[in-house]
Amino acid sequence: MHAPLIDRHGRAIRYLRVSVTDRCDLRCRYCMAEKMTFLPRSALLSLEELALITERFIARGVTKVRLTGGEPLVRRDVMDLVRRLGRSVGNGLDELTMTTNATRLADHADTLVAAGVRRINVSLDSRDPATFHHITRHGDVEQVLDGIAAGRAAGLRIKINAVALKGLNDAELPDLLDWCVTQGHDLTLIETMPVGHIDEDRADRFLPLTQVLADLGKRFELKRDDHSSGGPARYWRVGDSGTRLGLISPLTGNFCAGCNRVRLTTEGMLYTCLGHDDSVDLKAAIRSGGLAAVDAAIDAAMASKPLSHDFAITPGSAPAHARHMSVTGG
Ligand code: SAM
Ligand code: SF4
Repeated sequence: MHAPLIDRHGRAIRYLRVSVTDRCDLRCRYCMAEKMTFLPRSALLSLEELALITERFIARGVTKVRLTGGEPLVRRDVMDLVRRLGRSVGNGLDELTMTTNATRLADHADTLVAAGVRRINVSLDSRDPATFHHITRHGDVEQVLDGIAAGRAAGLRIKINAVALKGLNDAELPDLLDWCVTQGHDLTLIETMPVGHIDEDRADRFLPLTQVLADLGKRFELKRDDHSSGGPARYWRVGDSGTRLGLISPLTGNFCAGCNRVRLTTEGMLYTCLGHDDSVDLKAAIRSGGLAAVDAAIDAAMASKPLSHDFAITPGSAPAHARHMSVTGG
């Protein structure tokens, strides 16, 4: 294993998230406005550039890469990138994975597995067709459930991600956990984060996971689990099942002390924190000075990574910054 990158707070950076596109076929209300302006294609890194930069991170100690977006499966030829990065699995890279809304997973599950992907995260905020349609502004939950089934059939282990939304999916979360138990999926619940402008006030939908955990505890036997993915989630075992419940609580439980990740956008910006604008421009670097310039820019990013986000959600409050999660890569 290569020596890790170390940020200015002494944290080892082993995890790179890559947003391969800021576009998406859904418009989840907490993530995007209904009318979005996406990056022009001319602004994007080519897949070759994305691969070269990601491989540079692997050479510098990153052991886990997650492809995300936007919706990664809407980028044309993204499977070429998956296959290319899959060559690094077992060769510096411990894990290549993806976060997807699964609308197109049925078409790609076999290719993901063949490329070396073993586990993926699928976002599913509701199994109820009307609620799913409302949250995503037009999505068809059957398409997602078919995608999940195809993923499983192909041999992928699937973790379900759901953002907890007051008045939208809160009443359904116990049933969602129950379904995950019967299906053998892990479930991670996420607090909505104030990033990017949307058409609603996030405070109206903000649901503290402290409250959700108390509710779930009434129906399920939850045992604290020390498992750590090196990420922000805290985990519980659900009864004697194999299912692990994870909670990501950026608002009610800051987790930044153990942060091990940085995020590359499809435009080539490397963001060192989801909650801040600190970044370096790796597109400019690779196009002007090749991989040596990329190395120098990565070093500069390590020297400026913020200690923590300072998210807050109060009625009428502005987002922490204008960049949507779909740009930075959730
Ligand atoms: N489109 C893919 C998906 O939805 O899985 C990948 C990208 S999406 C930005 C990644 C994750 O970020 C999803 O689980 C989504 O629910 C979450 N997300 C998006 N906006 C968020 C926000 N403002 N606060 C918390 N989570 C958010
Ligand atoms: Fe698209 Fe994912 Fe954002 Fe929903 S959360 S709009 S699926 S990028």
